[in-house]
Amino acid sequence: MLQIEQLAVNYGAIQALKGVSLTVAAGEVVTLIGGNGAGKSTLMKAISGLEPCAGGRIAFDGQDLARTPAHRRVALGIAQSPEGRQVFPDQSVRDNLLLGAYLRPAGDASIAADLEEQFTTFPRLRERQHQMAGTLSGGEQQMLAIGRALMARPRLLLLDEPSLGLAPLIVKEIFAVIRTLKQRGMTILLVEQMANQALKVADRAYVLKTGEIASSGPAQALLEDPAVREAYLGKH
Ligand code: ATP
Repeated sequence: MLQIEQLAVNYGAIQALKGVSLTVAAGEVVTLIGGNGAGKSTLMKAISGLEPCAGGRIAFDGQDLARTPAHRRVALGIAQSPEGRQVFPDQSVRDNLLLGAYLRPAGDASIAADLEEQFTTFPRLRERQHQMAGTLSGGEQQMLAIGRALMARPRLLLLDEPSLGLAPLIVKEIFAVIRTLKQRGMTILLVEQMANQALKVADRAYVLKTGEIASSGPAQALLEDPAVREAYLGKH
């Protein structure tokens, strides 16, 4: 579904990505792990069209995205739940979710059905649907960010650090949701610093180190790899 070849992204003189190649097949959950500043968020932004590529190629269903602006990528089926959630704090939970469906005409019956689906997946969002998003806890805001991305009816869901800054119990809840989405057949690219949890839910994984893929393979194999365990799982 997603093919990335030799992708390069620069910020001025900083080479954030130096020739990254990666694939995600339909129905797979692929995780990209790596430390602070490895380039994980940059890769996500390049896929969703928020950062221009300096070299290489990103293709979705075989179509080169080089000339496809971000909003067209959403229409093709790529939706991102961004790092730091970025919900609209002064709008209600419900309106934040509806914003995710902005490509469909307001009032479309499918929007109400999808809203109901998000409320089933995230019961807390149903309870709090009329509250301003800014009053939600961090975990609830994260669920809202994922729900909003799902309202775009993506075929590829990009999740950028969904566990960031959340308490361990809430992180568990977020990963349970990712598991549910996986069981429904959703294709997911998951960026995480919580490598342990991410590798447990993923089918395959890539380790990104200073803008380059340091290793890749089945998630289970990386979970057992001593070098990965030492560097990213804090275990020897
Ligand atoms: P983190 O988990 O801390 O977000 P990351 O793996 O997502 O890390 P990126 O945010 O993609 O890493 O950053 C990769 C590199 O690019 C870092 O060296 C970072 O300082 C640099 N960088 C990121 N965004 C910008 C920007 N807007 N301008 C300049 N440099 C940037």
